[in-house]
Amino acid sequence: MEYDKNNVFYKIINKELKANIVLEGEHFLAFHDIAPKAPIHVLVIPKGGYLNYNDFTEHATDREILDFNRGISRVIKLMKLEENGFKLISNAGKFGVQEVMHMHVHILGKSFDD
Ligand code: AMP
Repeated sequence: MEYDKNNVFYKIINKELKANIVLEGEHFLAFHDIAPKAPIHVLVIPKGGYLNYNDFTEHATDREILDFNRGISRVIKLMKLEENGFKLISNAGKFGVQEVMHMHVHILGKSFDD
């Protein structure tokens, strides 16, 4: 399957659609999931057009991959998930039940601070 720019995350990157942004970097964007499945549910996406995790790690530049992964770490810190843990999920294709065909990871967690 080819990457198709006609997807919601591409529209969020291009500011055609609004999102509740958590953090932005040179090559990534992090925002709250619109239908959270945990008290903290943040999506991190690369700004480049990649279909899924494998497409991204195979075709993105080292800089994009590094910036994206450091972005995930920064979000984890920002959401105070380091100590109590979190889930990091990336759904791909039919078996993974991927809904949005733009590479993304879900960060799921709960802050025990409050
Ligand atoms: P999946 O492709 O199955 O990994 O999941 C896509 C995720 O994107 C789901 O958890 C949706 O709730 C979320 N989602 C879809 N549209 C938006 C949007 N406009 N803003 C934020 N999250 C979204």
